[in-house]
Amino acid sequence: MKIPFRSLFTSLFVGGLVIAGALTAEEGDKKLKVLIIDGQNNHDWKSTTPVLRRALESCERFSVEVSTSPATGATAEEWAKWNPKFASYDAVLSNYNGELWPDTVKSAFEKYVGDGGAFVVVHAANNAFPEWEAYNQMIGLGGWGGRTEASGPYLYVKDGHLMRDTSAGRGGSHGAQHEFNVDTFDSSHPIMSGLPKTWKHAKDELYDSLRGPAENVKVLATAYSPDSKKHEPMIMTVSYGKGRVFHTPMGHADYSMLCQGFFTIVDHLLEWAVTGAVTLPVSSEFPSPDAVKAIK
Ligand code: ZN
Repeated sequence: MKIPFRSLFTSLFVGGLVIAGALTAEEGDKKLKVLIIDGQNNHDWKSTTPVLRRALESCERFSVEVSTSPATGATAEEWAKWNPKFASYDAVLSNYNGELWPDTVKSAFEKYVGDGGAFVVVHAANNAFPEWEAYNQMIGLGGWGGRTEASGPYLYVKDGHLMRDTSAGRGGSHGAQHEFNVDTFDSSHPIMSGLPKTWKHAKDELYDSLRGPAENVKVLATAYSPDSKKHEPMIMTVSYGKGRVFHTPMGHADYSMLCQGFFTIVDHLLEWAVTGAVTLPVSSEFPSPDAVKAIK
C-alpha cells in the first residue's frame, strides 16, 4: 500500500508526540511515592498531616498519598477494612500514635521495612506501640507508653561521644515548648552535607530521655535540652533488615513543622531513606543559628 508522504509525516510526528508523552510519563514515575499514615494521635494530626504533605510536595521530588486509620474504639470489622498497601510506596511516613494495628497490618509493615522499604518517624509516632518489638527496633528510641529501662538505654551525646545509658528511669519527657538550636553531630553523613553546623528550629517540644533498643542507630544531630541537661538526638537514622528508617522527634504542631529547617531535613532524609543518596539542594532560606526561618 502506498502511503502519501503527508500521512507518513503525520504518522511520524504523532509517533514523536507519543514518545515525548512516554518520556514525560517516565519522568513522572521518578517521583518517589510516599504514604503518610495518620488517623489516631494525641496530637492534632488533622493539622499536621497537610503540613507534612506540603513539605514533601513542595520540592517536587515526592508524590504523597494519605491512609487514615479507623478512629479510636473502632470495631474489628472496621479495622479489617484498613489494609494499607505499603509495598506500593517508596516510603511510609508515620504521623500515627494510637491503638495497635491488626496483626495483618503489622506483619505487612514489618515485611515492607525489613525487605528494604523506607520509614519516617515524626514526633509522637515514637510514642506509639511500646509493646510491638519490631516497631521499637525500627524507631530505635521511643517515649511514654510505660517505657522504662526494660525498653532499652537512653541515648545522648556527651563531650562529643554518643552515650548509651542503661540507668533506671522512665522513657520520654519534655519541657515547655521553645525555639531551639539543632547541632550537627555527624557531619560525614550525606544528609548533613551542606547544612550549617547549627541552626535555629521553630517553637517545638524538645523531646528528652527517649529510650529503646537503640540498635543500628546513627545520631546525626542533637539539641541541648535545658530540662534533661543533655544533648538529645534530633535526627537519627536506623537500619532495620534491608530497610532505612529516619526518625526525628521534632514536629509537635503545625507551627513546629512550618520551619525551613524542618522541611529541608524531612525532604533530604526521605530522599536518602529511599535512594541512599541526597540530590536535593539546601535551600538558600535555610535557618541561621540565630533566627528561625518560618514558612508562611
Ligand atoms: Zn508533642
